[in-house]
Amino acid sequence: MAGGSTTGASAASSLEPGAVDRTSLDLRATYHVRATIGWANRQLAVETRIDLLNESGGPIDHIVLNTVAGPLGRLRGLSVDVDGRSVPATLADQTIRVPFGGVLPDGGTVEVVVRYRATVRSDLAGPSGSAWLFTRTTGILDLYRWIPWLSREHPFARPNHGDPFVTAVSPRVTLDLRADRPLRYAVNGRRITTSDGGRRQVFVAEHVRDVVLTAAPDFRTARGRVGDTEIEVVARPGAPAAALLREARRALERLERLLGPYPYPKLVVAESAGGYALEGPGIVWVPRGVATSRLPYLVTHELGHQWFYGLVGNDQAAEPFADEAITDMVTRYVLGMRRAPRCTSGRLDRSIYTYSAACYYERIYVAGGNLLDDLRRRMGNAAFFGALRTYIDDHRFGLGSTADLVETLDAATPIDVRAFMGRLLPSLRPGAS
Ligand SMILES: [Zn+2]
Repeated sequence: MAGGSTTGASAASSLEPGAVDRTSLDLRATYHVRATIGWANRQLAVETRIDLLNESGGPIDHIVLNTVAGPLGRLRGLSVDVDGRSVPATLADQTIRVPFGGVLPDGGTVEVVVRYRATVRSDLAGPSGSAWLFTRTTGILDLYRWIPWLSREHPFARPNHGDPFVTAVSPRVTLDLRADRPLRYAVNGRRITTSDGGRRQVFVAEHVRDVVLTAAPDFRTARGRVGDTEIEVVARPGAPAAALLREARRALERLERLLGPYPYPKLVVAESAGGYALEGPGIVWVPRGVATSRLPYLVTHELGHQWFYGLVGNDQAAEPFADEAITDMVTRYVLGMRRAPRCTSGRLDRSIYTYSAACYYERIYVAGGNLLDDLRRRMGNAAFFGALRTYIDDHRFGLGSTADLVETLDAATPIDVRAFMGRLLPSLRPGAS
């Protein structure tokens, strides 16, 4: 790390003696991240100060953070301070468990500082086929889920490309990035300052459940606008920037008509090094080299996640139906792309860890989307999309779930939605445990 420590010795700690073996996601967490990025040597050093306010209604004595730097970046040099005192934090897989060494009562505040070093990969596949989340290759740096973020303990490895994450919204994140050369960033924050010839840049993001970035020395930016939303397409020379901008504009207009206003001031369409297209809050990753014919689907799907993931989060590892099925249904509806699944039908209410690579997409996205689309046909568009807007309003910047979604749909129609969806979502049947 460059510079001195950001750990301020707290005048008065809220921590009380004892232990309760309890944590929560209902914490107000602001993040101040200082990172040193070695473009040439792929070294990353990250210091994250998390100011926490316990809003969970009860005492907690630890938090659970996650970062893919664990499984993908050979994370090392982990050190964690709580209110200025070093604590024995542990890293397992993508999970950093931070014991406070005391109890934080409801309404109490604590300052957690997490430091780590890691090496970003130089390939796209790597462990669990996931290197593309944390790599520098094809002239682009990809950093996804790299800030140690308030989360739950979920295994990183899964048999498919599912998202093994759940993240709570932060009211404010500050990024202070220093690199060994001038870089251009595609990041879901607004730039506050740039100095040292572009080697140091500071960004701020608000109401986001993650801050993700791609970077390259030769990124170019194309700009557009839909209503009061600024669109930035950030990509290397030779990328289909005009097509990306056109698809982003078209998708934003169509989705806002169905789902209500896009939740962020800016939409960034970022070229990533490769792998899969992926959503972040206010940002979508489109992998380098993807066929132009796939852009309408990929851009619309990742933009759909701005409502189902960004605005209404969910436990993506435990309940992929709640983000992927509804997002894919809306995507195929606006594009007229409904098709039959290429795997036999089966339960849709399981975690990402139970579906094969061959059938995860076909089951959750395609069959799950078709189930919701069948319900739309029965309910009618006004009732169905009205219920989606209610679900979005009810869980705005919080966490929803498959059960919450089904309950909201059920309340909007005389149709028995639990019975209608019960064959594929049996855990939601009345009386099911
Ligand atoms: Zn998706």
